[in-house]
Amino acid sequence: MEGNVQEVKRVAVIGAGCAGLVALKECLEGNLQVVCFEKNNKIGGLWNIKDGKKDKDYKGPTVYPSLVMNTCKETSTCSDHPVQDDWPNFLPWSLFLEYLESYANRFQLRQHIKLNEEIVEVSRLDTERPNGRGWKVVHKNTTTGSESTDTFDAVIVASGFFTEEYWPAYKGMDMFTGTFSHSGSFFTAEEYKDKDILVVGGSYSAGDVATEIAVLSRNMFVSATHGFWVLPRLLDGYPHEAAYSTRIVNDVISIEDLRASLEEKVIKHVDPFEYGFNPARRFLRQSHMFNDEIWRLKRDGKVQVVPGIKEFTEDSVIFSDGSTHHIDHVIFCTGYKTKCSFLKDMQHDSAIDLNLYKHMFPVGVPWADDTLAFVGFWDSLGVYLPCMELQSRFIVSVLKTHPRYKRPESVEKTWLNSKFRQNLSSLTFSSFSLVIETLSLYKLSQLSMNIGGIETC
Ligand SMILES: Cc1cc2nc3c(=O)[nH]c(=O)nc-3n(C[C@H](O)[C@H](O)[C@H](O)COP(=O)(O)OP(=O)(O)OC[C@H]3O[C@@H](n4cnc5c(N)ncnc54)[C@H](O)[C@@H]3O)c2cc1C
Repeated sequence: MEGNVQEVKRVAVIGAGCAGLVALKECLEGNLQVVCFEKNNKIGGLWNIKDGKKDKDYKGPTVYPSLVMNTCKETSTCSDHPVQDDWPNFLPWSLFLEYLESYANRFQLRQHIKLNEEIVEVSRLDTERPNGRGWKVVHKNTTTGSESTDTFDAVIVASGFFTEEYWPAYKGMDMFTGTFSHSGSFFTAEEYKDKDILVVGGSYSAGDVATEIAVLSRNMFVSATHGFWVLPRLLDGYPHEAAYSTRIVNDVISIEDLRASLEEKVIKHVDPFEYGFNPARRFLRQSHMFNDEIWRLKRDGKVQVVPGIKEFTEDSVIFSDGSTHHIDHVIFCTGYKTKCSFLKDMQHDSAIDLNLYKHMFPVGVPWADDTLAFVGFWDSLGVYLPCMELQSRFIVSVLKTHPRYKRPESVEKTWLNSKFRQNLSSLTFSSFSLVIETLSLYKLSQLSMNIGGIETC
């Protein structure tokens, strides 16, 4: 046992969304003393909507009331808390939030969660020494504004990957007299009735938002620079995950064979070229959406697909093919940036700059001593909760191990330079193999092997 490694007893978890709840539960299971800080007045993170409307008091992005999960209930939930049999295959946001609440109740998590407490600073007490005496954690009460400071042996960041809306910039936007918004604040289609609407983006939220508004708007244009692929939630009668999240896919089938087989299945269902969605690159090398409506609306003229934006004029948008359309309102469905502004000693502008080894431990920060860990920091095709659950188990096992798990320097260097890491922030991977690496089953297998799991068929 290494003498200078401080034993981890007290852990702070930041956030009580999916990631924070599973991290809290796994810490308790590992007999650690844990406090979970949540800046909002309720648990559940992104899935918080009140009575089908935006809760004005909720700080941060949320999903929209029409959202139905794009992953099925069997694969989207935790190993130790199965979802009710009579719930639908693909859960609407309200049932998923109910699931998270029942998870918190079942494992008696609420008594360990401090609501309305925002973490404003996390810093190492001593960056000079390897065992650094732990972490200073400053938290602010969001109702009274009063600040308090605590110390913890370890910190688990579960504050969310989708934290800040990403807004692209185009020439002429400043002279445009129409209005702009982001899918992160989309709640009802009513306000777009009889208007000319432009949805920018070719991924999940672009499909959801466009199809919901298209039945009411005068014109609905969807602009995607490279077009997009459309996947139904059910492929050949099975949840789409069944087509790629299997051991045979992970371990036996070549990447090109898998791509060809997936493309064949997808095209059989909705041929993106016939419908004018025109993906410029092959499947999973660019945007795709899970959507069961958009091709019908396109067929019926309710949705028009246009290429990338060239520039804005006073009341219109000019597209890269030279076409021009009058637009009243633009909704950017362009995703999110990741910010952890409380990490004062680790400046970063994006999730990539965070340099998380296997999405969990900061690379090149030796003084963090693997007592600063992240849960849920990736963007991937596939499910989140089960991967977060295994990440949490892995992190707890690292925190409780003496000497702590040490990555060889060469492993860190390889990770820093890997194309995989450089492509992490989007699904527009240059290589299909990079996509495979982020698929949830692959991640689950890798993580579970690392903590002594056994692969079963
Ligand atoms: C539109 C959309 C659709 C999605 N659909 C699916 C799907 O179908 N299936 C699926 O598996 N995943 C889906 N996801 C992925 C989703 O991100 C995960 O399912 C999951 O909700 C992420 O949980 P999280 O805990 O990491 O983050 P969040 O849900 O964002 O929770 C983070 C929590 O941390 C709190 N917090 C943040 N900063 C602080 C701070 N400084 N101090 C204290 N508290 C803080 C926040 O208030 C929040 O409660 C979707 C995501 C989006 C955006």
